[in-house]
Amino acid sequence: MDADVIVVGAGPVGLLLAAELRLAGAEPLVLERLTEPSPLRRSRGIGPLAAEALRRRGLGERLTEHQPERGAQKAREHGSAKDHFAWIHKIDPQLQEEPDRRGVLIWQPDLEAVLGEHAAGLGVAVRRRHTVTGLSPGEDGATVTAGTPTGARRLRAAYVVGCDGGRSTVRKLAGFAFPGTPPLMTARQAHAEVADPGALPPPGRLPGGMLLHGPGGIGTFDFADAHERHEGPVTAEELRASVRRVAGVDVTFTRMDDALRFTDQARQAATYRLGRVLLAGDAAHVHSPNGGQGLNLGLMDAVNLGWKLAAEVRGTAPDGLLDTYTAERHPAGEAVLRNTRAQSALMLPGPHTDALRDIVADLMDIPDVNRYFGRLLSGLGTRYAFPYATPEAHPLTGAHCPDVTLSVAARPGREVPLSRLTTGGRPVLFAPAGGPAVAAAAGWRPGVEVVEVTAVDHPALGGALVRPDGAVAWACAPGEPPGTALLEAALRTWFGSPSSARISRQH
Ligand SMILES: Cc1cc2nc3c(=O)[nH]c(=O)nc-3n(C[C@H](O)[C@H](O)[C@H](O)COP(=O)(O)OP(=O)(O)OC[C@H]3O[C@@H](n4cnc5c(N)ncnc54)[C@H](O)[C@@H]3O)c2cc1C
Repeated sequence: MDADVIVVGAGPVGLLLAAELRLAGAEPLVLERLTEPSPLRRSRGIGPLAAEALRRRGLGERLTEHQPERGAQKAREHGSAKDHFAWIHKIDPQLQEEPDRRGVLIWQPDLEAVLGEHAAGLGVAVRRRHTVTGLSPGEDGATVTAGTPTGARRLRAAYVVGCDGGRSTVRKLAGFAFPGTPPLMTARQAHAEVADPGALPPPGRLPGGMLLHGPGGIGTFDFADAHERHEGPVTAEELRASVRRVAGVDVTFTRMDDALRFTDQARQAATYRLGRVLLAGDAAHVHSPNGGQGLNLGLMDAVNLGWKLAAEVRGTAPDGLLDTYTAERHPAGEAVLRNTRAQSALMLPGPHTDALRDIVADLMDIPDVNRYFGRLLSGLGTRYAFPYATPEAHPLTGAHCPDVTLSVAARPGREVPLSRLTTGGRPVLFAPAGGPAVAAAAGWRPGVEVVEVTAVDHPALGGALVRPDGAVAWACAPGEPPGTALLEAALRTWFGSPSSARISRQH
């Protein structure tokens, strides 16, 4: 074996997955076809769940370095500081249920640099100029063939994970079904200077689609050529032709760079695992970038999969643990495909859609509806269905834990954010000091970090068992004596039997 897990693709999802595997005691090897990280500014930010996941690994400060200037830039380019659904900018951050749980604005190349350094700091090996072209999965592992400058190489691991983007080679070679819907539109955007900006109509909806422009940038959502197949870089002529179709005017670019093309085709792998091969990130799901949800989804795939796959290769995983990856993440992806399809429908040209947009815009003025849209796009409504969670389980079971502040019994007078206790990647149980939950978890120490607390600054939480991916596996309300049956069921489901002490840390 060359590694426990071969991760194909050193994009943001592959880098985070490799780091999570390493933190949980597995040996990943990342194969990437590019010589250097891509400079393309695709994503301009990540959602709240992904931001919290990265804070849990101590990356918070690096993420927020450029936040104020990026916020001002986005507001300028979008013409609004509010978030949008189908470019209806009405989602008010202040109206949301948990306004402090927000995403972070960081351009994708900057994010990849942060994740690359994080992975390197953990000792993750990334082999660039390795283009995966072949895959032979078997009973006890999989062999990958990669083209390199010195010829083809064969590498073997117990598992292979395709984090190789929307056109995933791994997905195709392994035979994953990828059902979904074809594109309604092709979108193009570029940093560009237009010689004759006065010729352009104001940004917004037009008979051919949608035109966006402002100082230094232009973009189209073009419904007229969605079924044309475009390959290669976007040329000035292609963008010019799209502006003509959408807005009916001819423009000349005096400068154009960072041009991107994307569609709103929406497809999702039917399962995220076929034996020894798994998928994560865009390799598992593609959809339009409207609402900026792709990375939130992909990075949460990575943190969900990392600790489970590491337990599997180390032989410590309880039965069925790895299959909970598809069970939990497929519905999360499905929800994003659904809302991005709805956004595409709301962007179709024509008077019928104009009328529908007016109605949706009016509805968004109702605070509960505004929160509904906010929840959709942030992913904060994600709830995993855990098999042991009875109707009596705490309502936050299966949700992702916010970064609560804990008053730790062993350090009187000091308040500790949960994210400071999770940098090593272990699950954490915080629970009332000296109480039954602490006693019940004793057999799972030190694999589970047990923190006795005197207070939690959250109105609904007195204690919680938080998995390495931030999911609340069990919780109790403040002031309520916690029953331990559900807690023990949660500990067994995720971490096996206490006697095996099977999740001791290796790093
Ligand atoms: C215009 C635009 C704007 C967006 N804005 C946002 C946003 O604001 N917020 C958000 O959350 N998301 C956004 N997204 C989506 C986001 O960019 C993607 O979801 C994200 O890049 C997915 O990351 P990934 O690691 O899964 O795949 P990728 O970033 O595509 O990385 C895949 C990696 O695999 C490598 N690779 C591919 N094939 C092979 C092979 N055969 N062998 C070896 N290596 C291979 C590639 O070179 C690449 O490095 C946007 C997308 C676009 C197009």
